[in-house]
Amino acid sequence: MSDRPDPTTRFHAMLHARSGALEPGDPVPEPLVMTSAFALSEQPAPDRSYGRMATPTVSAVEARLALLEDAPCLLFPSGMGAYGALMMAALETGDRVLLLSDGYYAARALTETVLAPFGITMQTCAARDIATAPLDGLAMVIVETPSNPGLDVIDIAALAERCHAAGARLVVDNTVCTPLLQQPLDLGADAVIVSDTKAMGGHSDLLMGHVASRDAGLMERLHATRSLAGAIPGPFEAWLLLRGLETLDLRLARMCENARAALPILSASDKVSDVIYPAPHPQTSDQGFLVGATFADAPTADRFLELAGFAPTTSFGGLHSSGDRRARWGDAVPAGFLRLSFGTEPTDRLMADLARALDRV
Ligand code: PLP
Repeated sequence: MSDRPDPTTRFHAMLHARSGALEPGDPVPEPLVMTSAFALSEQPAPDRSYGRMATPTVSAVEARLALLEDAPCLLFPSGMGAYGALMMAALETGDRVLLLSDGYYAARALTETVLAPFGITMQTCAARDIATAPLDGLAMVIVETPSNPGLDVIDIAALAERCHAAGARLVVDNTVCTPLLQQPLDLGADAVIVSDTKAMGGHSDLLMGHVASRDAGLMERLHATRSLAGAIPGPFEAWLLLRGLETLDLRLARMCENARAALPILSASDKVSDVIYPAPHPQTSDQGFLVGATFADAPTADRFLELAGFAPTTSFGGLHSSGDRRARWGDAVPAGFLRLSFGTEPTDRLMADLARALDRV
């Protein structure tokens, strides 16, 4: 991992990728090119043949993401689009995949519903047990760290070593941390999946996902899968993602600051029975913007969100603080458990809202 640029250098390169090459009269932001068709030359460039293979804006955003990930990237129309394409590209009949029993439920549902008929089987394991879980016979291990919504931290480097010894690929869903706070590929993961719908886009106005990997063969297969299955996003959403991405470091800094400021307030309240926040770990530069808080029951949790002005939403990572009562989606958490996602509101005001809501709920 040593000779690779640090995350701040990667972010700076991503932000400045265009400004360094501007000619007089060029637009400063990335131009949005809305097209599916191109006037063909005898040998069209890869992003100038047909929009299902690539378009200039999608390729430009992938190039920026590649600077941030320090690895080739491909965009998909959602995080689950990225999961589906990666699993289709990397797995074959007879393969077995391990997923977290306490990770994002749609990843398990995708495997059981869509991939099982193709002979791909699944086993599950809780995030806190994965360090000792047997990995024999697995083709792929997919984890989230911190896990979601339990916020348990998995040691990526140690797991990568065990996966490779067992002949399995390790895929890390890096949605919660983003490539700015955690770099799974540097720690030995074979591929990274990110739902860019969340903090990467950051404005709760688009769906998007990407896969990053330094395995050229895998990325080639993934591109073929995307082109043939027709799973490329439109230029406008990709452009919106880039617009959000350019403020990722600023947004994350405030979001994490707000989460940290809220911890003592939530912990001191007798309305909250349990507060969870990821444990510090050298693989992450910050513990993030998600906090778990358990209230007495579902109506109390809902009332708290309303009083605090947190949007009751199942997404996270946006500008606006929000909360999701995860039991409603079947997660194994108490009925009054909320996954709180801290936004970019001014810290003092947000903390005052939080304290007042806790007082009144
Ligand atoms: N990974 C994680 C950790 C998620 O929380 C989600 C969605 O909530 C996804 C992947 C799927 O992303 P998308 O909703 O963009 O398909």
